[in-house]
Amino acid sequence: MTALPAPVRVQGTLHALQVPIPYPMKTVTVLIDTGGPVTLIDTALDTPEARTAIEDGLAALGLHWPDVERVIITHHHPDHYGLAGVVEERGGATVQMLDVEIGRGERYWHLWEEWLPGHIKHMADHGLPPGLLESLERDSRRTRDRVQPASRVQPLREGQQVPLAGTDWEVLWLPGHADGHLGLWNEEESLLIAGDAILPRISPNIGLYAYTRPDPLGDYLQTLGKLEALNPRRAVVGHHGPVMEGVQARARELRSHHHERLDFVQAEAAREARSAYELSLVMFPRDLNVAGRRFALAETLAHAEHLRLLGALARTWQDGAWVYHA
Ligand SMILES: [Zn+2]
Ligand SMILES: [Zn+2]
Repeated sequence: MTALPAPVRVQGTLHALQVPIPYPMKTVTVLIDTGGPVTLIDTALDTPEARTAIEDGLAALGLHWPDVERVIITHHHPDHYGLAGVVEERGGATVQMLDVEIGRGERYWHLWEEWLPGHIKHMADHGLPPGLLESLERDSRRTRDRVQPASRVQPLREGQQVPLAGTDWEVLWLPGHADGHLGLWNEEESLLIAGDAILPRISPNIGLYAYTRPDPLGDYLQTLGKLEALNPRRAVVGHHGPVMEGVQARARELRSHHHERLDFVQAEAAREARSAYELSLVMFPRDLNVAGRRFALAETLAHAEHLRLLGALARTWQDGAWVYHA
């Protein structure tokens, strides 16, 4: 077995650890602040490999699970939230999320049995074929098994100051990739803890799912504007990090990427009325596994719905699915 990467110092007592996840991004960033209160930011999916990596990372800093007093979660996705309940249980750590995100996590992980049928219906209504719907249920169950949600989550509010690494950080609301995606901003150091709100090598998935806010792409375009104005010197990112520079340029690049895709979806739907799934096959023509095809559908749908809300496209219910057209 190869040695696990050691924690890297980011700022003062704040360290970043690359924790393995069984997804194409390979790792997720978990931050450890050894200054009081001892804090984890994000927790990775619950797998034996991730537990070992975090345990070893804590040990390298002279800490153990029960020493963790606080867990801050950037957003409720499984690769960031998975071990929150375990850390809570081991030493009674307080788990915190942005207020907007708490209900999302609650529905997703605690009310999972009720959430699943709505999720499946949403994907079917937008054209996901029956064969892919079957794997959707199977994969969702497997993911659910790898998430230990916290029993109690304390809300953080946009604009609030949070003490971390011996200084105060401002809580930011960065919606788009997740409705209640949180950022932490240290103005003095021009340092942003960004989670998946911006990533260096991949475009964060902006998907319209059952129960999300109606226009995640519109939310995300505003978030990109916010990040561009903030212009951090460094950002700690959820994947392909831990640290990236050039956030302002990357935000501009991602905005033009989404504008190109909007033009593409509008032209394709105007050429021939189609479901979001059919549109996703032309927007993402390459070979994708079933999970990739579902992300592609949700991402295409976010673009189609953004255009519909702007009045640039219409949709009609036809043969058991929504089709988008001029
Ligand atoms: Zn995410
Ligand atoms: Zn992620």
